[in-house]
Amino acid sequence: MARDVPVAKIGRAIVAAILVAAALGVAVGAAHKSPGLPDRARAAPARGAVLFIGDGMGPAYITVTRVARGGSRGKLRIDGLPYTALSRTYSADSPVTDSAAAATAMACGKKTVNGVLGEDASAVYARQDGARLESIAVWAKKRGMRVGLVTTSTVTDATPAAFYACEKDRENEAGIARQAVASGIDFLLGGGGKFFPEELRSQARADGWTVVVTVHDLRVMTGRGRHVLGLFDEGAFPFQPEIVLARKQADGAPAAGSDAPAARDVPTLPEMTRWAIDRLKGSGRPFFLMVEGGRIDHAGHANWARTLVDETAALDEAVGIAVDRLDPKTTLVLVTADHETGGLALNGYPHEKDGIWSTYSDPEGDKGDGPYPVVTFASGPGIKKQTGRPPDGEDDARPSGISLVSAAHTGVDVALYAWGAGAERVHGTLDNTAVYSILRAQLEGKSNAR
Ligand SMILES: [Zn+2]
Repeated sequence: MARDVPVAKIGRAIVAAILVAAALGVAVGAAHKSPGLPDRARAAPARGAVLFIGDGMGPAYITVTRVARGGSRGKLRIDGLPYTALSRTYSADSPVTDSAAAATAMACGKKTVNGVLGEDASAVYARQDGARLESIAVWAKKRGMRVGLVTTSTVTDATPAAFYACEKDRENEAGIARQAVASGIDFLLGGGGKFFPEELRSQARADGWTVVVTVHDLRVMTGRGRHVLGLFDEGAFPFQPEIVLARKQADGAPAAGSDAPAARDVPTLPEMTRWAIDRLKGSGRPFFLMVEGGRIDHAGHANWARTLVDETAALDEAVGIAVDRLDPKTTLVLVTADHETGGLALNGYPHEKDGIWSTYSDPEGDKGDGPYPVVTFASGPGIKKQTGRPPDGEDDARPSGISLVSAAHTGVDVALYAWGAGAERVHGTLDNTAVYSILRAQLEGKSNAR
């Protein structure tokens, strides 16, 4: 436990809070009636679990982000989480997973084949359905818990979709969008508006969803609408620095009359996370939240190193928001990745003062080595075949060893970090399917004894 408050003191604080609440006529202890879940006063927050997924955020992504932002001795919020494990990411048909199989493993506790969402390994990608699996989000909903999913990619993209959809082809985002509306989840925030035509939005509204499309809509949403569908972009979000820059340029001016939401109207990942946590805490019910830094992977596929640092740093800030606002006695926070993207490397041996965006030359200079870039990728478009333009300009691209239009994922183990209630379950080397069982044990209120 991170907090070091005597139990007797906590007890007194709870009693005092109950007395105050009772004196004010506030209903206490009636927040929920689920079997096995004791009624709680408002002073005692409900049990919860938050899963952060950095898409593509392999171990080197954390290291490079830390060093880029604070030097070798810097410390990210993620670095401060007290429990860690290594997580094996292989899928049912490959040592190198895609996001669909990895997200299914974490969401449903079973390995499946690449490209498949929420179905078991008897599925054949895009050709044949497997047996349907039940995700931790659906499991929690069935027990009256609050469930939210947040991403900077499309809400129908593989990672969020594995928490509510069963689909043999992850590319079928239009079909996944229909499953999203039918999911009964409390809120779903991200991009992907193009997969929700007006007819589907009307259906969603009829089913109790409030559809919001700008960060302003989100900020002023104080009502307890049953379901919130945030579609802040037609596709994936702009990269985080583009959102910040667009707001500075707009200088507070209202959005132009365009149907396509401008970058300045898109919420940042930390903003969505703060909104999600406040809403879930305010419900007084047990909850599950998944937050994905979805564009870390996109920057990795493009070999844009500074951009992946920006995206990873945004996820790290979101983790900090969760840890600062939640109670470690009742809430578990997990942070992990679905896989690594591109084979990011931090090559030797730049001097600390030169930083990592430099090139390195051997000072002896005798073997013809160097200068070479400190940050490189194993695969991807490198510096020659860029198709787009990163937010920081063309110089963001780093060289790749294998020339591919888009970098390949790699099969290295990823890190799993934990904080709060039940965090001590996270140690050793685990399969990514353990994420499901650790979340479920916490939401079931099982003892932390192993
Ligand atoms: Zn990817």
